[in-house]
Amino acid sequence: MFNRSRRNLARWFTLSMGSILIMFAGTLYYQESLQQLEIIDSLLYKKARVITGNVKYRPHQGQEQVFLGNVPLLGNNPPPPDSEVVYARWYDAEGQLKRFFGQIPPEKLRETFEFQTIKLSNDEDSSSSTVIWLRQITLPVQHNGQIIGYLQMALPMTRAQETLRRFLLLLVFTVLIALGLTSLAGWFLGGLAMLPIRHSYQQLQRFTANASHELRAPLAAILSNAQVGLLAPIDDGATKHLRLEKTVEVAKSMNTLIGNLLFLARRAGCLVPESLRYFDLSDLLEELLDSQTIKAAAQHLHIKSDLPKHSIVINADPDLLRQAVMNLLSNACKYTPQGGKVELRLFTEYGQVVIQVEDNGIGIPAEDLPHIFERFYRVDKQRTRSAGGFGLGLAIAQQIVAAHDGHLSVRSQVGQGSLFQIELPLT
Ligand code: ADP
Repeated sequence: MFNRSRRNLARWFTLSMGSILIMFAGTLYYQESLQQLEIIDSLLYKKARVITGNVKYRPHQGQEQVFLGNVPLLGNNPPPPDSEVVYARWYDAEGQLKRFFGQIPPEKLRETFEFQTIKLSNDEDSSSSTVIWLRQITLPVQHNGQIIGYLQMALPMTRAQETLRRFLLLLVFTVLIALGLTSLAGWFLGGLAMLPIRHSYQQLQRFTANASHELRAPLAAILSNAQVGLLAPIDDGATKHLRLEKTVEVAKSMNTLIGNLLFLARRAGCLVPESLRYFDLSDLLEELLDSQTIKAAAQHLHIKSDLPKHSIVINADPDLLRQAVMNLLSNACKYTPQGGKVELRLFTEYGQVVIQVEDNGIGIPAEDLPHIFERFYRVDKQRTRSAGGFGLGLAIAQQIVAAHDGHLSVRSQVGQGSLFQIELPLT
C-alpha cells in the first residue's frame, strides 16, 4: 500500500515537473528561433542596403533612369565566389522584372512583404528532391521620396537551421536527464512523505492491537466470574455475591479504560475554545492536593507542596490541566513505596509556568524513559496492572500539555525517584 502510494507520488511529481520542464524548453526553443531569425534578417537587410547603395538614378536622354551597372550581383561585375545570396532581383517601380541573379524569377513582383520565409524545392533530380528554406527580403528603393524600384534577394537558412537543430538536441538531452533526475527525486521525496504516514499507521496498528488486548483481559475475567457464579449451587449466595463483586470491579476498570481511550481519541490534541478561561493555577493545584483521590493514594506517603503565595493566572482549560497533573500525582503516589515523599511545585521561569511533580519512588529505567509517553506502554506490566494502570495516564497528560502549547518532560533514576515537569506558556 505504501509502495503504491510512493510510486503514485513519484509519478505525479515527475509528470508535473516534466510538463513544466517541457513548457520551459519549448519557450526557450521559440526564443532561440526568433533570435536566429533576427540575426538572418539583419544580415539580409545589411546586404540589401549595400546593393541598393550602388543603384544609380540619373537623367538619360531627357528621362530619369535607373542604372544597375555597378550594383553587386545584378551589375556587370561577376558575383563574388563566397557570396551566400541564392538570388537577387531588380523590379522597376511597376513591379516588372528588370534584372536578376540566380534562379529564374517570376516576371512580375507578386508580394511586397519586407521579410518572408520561402520553401524552395529542388526537384532537378526526381529521385531525391531536396528542400531548402530561404529568407527573402523585398526592399523598396526610393529616390527623393519616390519609389524607383524593388530589390528582392534571399539567403539560405541552413546555418540558422543547423544552430536550431543543435539547440533542440541539447534541449531534448537536458530535458531527458532532468526528467530522470526528477523521477529519482520524486521517488526519494515520496519515501520521505510516506515516513510520517507509515509511522502513524504503525502506531495505529499497535494501538488497536493493544486496546483489543487490554479489553479482552477484563472481558475474560467477567466471563469466567459469571460462569463460576452460575456453576455454584443455587443456595450458595456467598459465592455468587463474591463473583458479582469481582465482575463489578473488573467492569469498573474496563469503564476507566474505555473512558481513557475515548478521551485520547476525541481530544486528539485540540482544545475547545469555549473551555478556555483565565484562572489561578495555584488555587487549582491547592484544590487538587486536597482532593480525596490523592489523599487516598497518598496513604503512608509524605505529600508536600511548594506553591507560590501570589496567584499565577493562565488562560487554559482548567479541567484538562487538573486531569494532567492528577495523572502525574497519582503515578507518583502509585510508584513510591510507603514512607516515601511526593512533592508538587509551581513557579514561573523564563516567561513560562512550571509545574513539577517529584517523588523518591522506584524510578524508571533509562531504556524505558523514551517510551513511557506512548499509549499502553508500561515499564513493568505485572506491577503496574496490579497498581491499576493501563499505560494511558502519561499519554493523556502529554496530549493535554501539548494541546496547551506546553511541554512535558521527565527525569528519573531507578531507586532514586522521578521528576515530571510541565512547562506552559505564561499568557
Ligand atoms: P499507568 O497508568 O500504567 O501508570 P502511565 O502512562 O501513567 O501508565 O505510566 C506509564 C509507565 O511509566 C508506568 O507503567 C510506570 O511504570 C511508569 N511511571 C510513570 N510514572 C512513574 C513514576 N512517578 N515513578 C515510576 N514509574 C513511573
